[in-house]
Amino acid sequence: MKIITAVRGFKDILPPETDKWRHIEDTAHEVFRAFGFNEIRLPLLEKTELFRRGIGESTDIVEKEMYTFLDRGEESLTLRPEATASVIRAYLEHSLHAAESVTKLFTIGPMFRRERPQKGRYRQFNQIDVEVLGPDDPRTDAELILMMIHFLRRIGLKNLNLELNSLGCAQCRPAFRDAIVTFLRGSEENLCGDCRRRIGTNPLRVFDCKVEQCGELVSQAPNMADFLCPECREHFEKVQSSLSLFQISCKINPKMVRGLDYYTRTTFEVTTEFLGAQNAILGGGRYDHLVQELGGPDISGIGFAIGFERLASLIPEGETDTPAGPLLFIAALGDRALGNAFSLCNRLRMKGIRVDMDYGGRSLKSQMKRANKLNSAFTLILGDREIDENRALLRNMIASTQEEVGLDELEETIMKIAR
Ligand code: AMP
Repeated sequence: MKIITAVRGFKDILPPETDKWRHIEDTAHEVFRAFGFNEIRLPLLEKTELFRRGIGESTDIVEKEMYTFLDRGEESLTLRPEATASVIRAYLEHSLHAAESVTKLFTIGPMFRRERPQKGRYRQFNQIDVEVLGPDDPRTDAELILMMIHFLRRIGLKNLNLELNSLGCAQCRPAFRDAIVTFLRGSEENLCGDCRRRIGTNPLRVFDCKVEQCGELVSQAPNMADFLCPECREHFEKVQSSLSLFQISCKINPKMVRGLDYYTRTTFEVTTEFLGAQNAILGGGRYDHLVQELGGPDISGIGFAIGFERLASLIPEGETDTPAGPLLFIAALGDRALGNAFSLCNRLRMKGIRVDMDYGGRSLKSQMKRANKLNSAFTLILGDREIDENRALLRNMIASTQEEVGLDELEETIMKIAR
């Protein structure tokens, strides 16, 4: 019979890759906690309406990429394509804004987008999502970006390119949008079919188009920087000056508009040349009207989402703190030894020590081979003779030395080594 494989674009994360994931998650918890963030866990399924309103009807995500279905033909539900809308939904549903004027949250988990799968792009992928709700001070933006860069450096990433832009606010963006529409209408014949349609629906989306011809045209388009109102200009300058206090260098990219509709003012992306075509590690920005658009009070927000798979792919194997193999492998020969080893092995495990053994009754040679393969630090050989004499050889696999240990002191000896 044929085996059943995973769905295209949906990926298993196998060991030892999972050690790397745990290391990234632990570092995220440690760094974010120091900056005052708390973890939130959210459902994967939400009402479709949340993303239609939260992300925007005419974005690629909502138009083409969502996994949406009618639940028993009654209610339209969607597997979340991103976390910000869900975070705000929970923030409003549980009135977190009434309890605190500043709410700092992070969540780590899978997102779903029906994109064309390729290296670094999956249909189920994971994000580390971080959001600050409440303050609109530019130092909040700088602090968030600082934490993000610090986290990436702690993970061990180098050569990061931070790009920054400001998309203005409800006051100054309409004039920019008008200028873009006029510009695009002037060269409509050079745009792809999708972009021609976007002129009428959401002209800023043309900036995200992957078609080469559209990209060339956009490079000559007007820049938001020339349309920023004095308040937005000052906000953007303060973000940059606060970042420079921490020697965080960034490039201003006036063409970066990001793929989602809700951004206002500061937007940012981190890319690296090591990722190939899918070179973005993360993206984020400020969203000063999103909470209101989702039915809440007038509260500002800013956040970012890191692509977990892309981040993990940048960390070389073996660069995590997790031990590679067990501390001890017990090679048991014969029924009596197997019985003793079984109880010793599980007693040590319950004390938190990684111990392994094999119940297959295989030869000493093949058990030693297995100990080597598992990368065990120590091996204990246990046979009838050792049990009769109440002592056995404990072999240090790294130093290639061995010592005789009394079986009664074995547990204590192993505990000492583990310390
Ligand atoms: P976005 O939510 O589109 O701003 O994406 C934020 C980050 O998530 C990107 O910079 C990528 O690292 C990651 N990402 C987005 N879409 C995918 C995908 N389909 N597969 C893998 N990673 C993704």
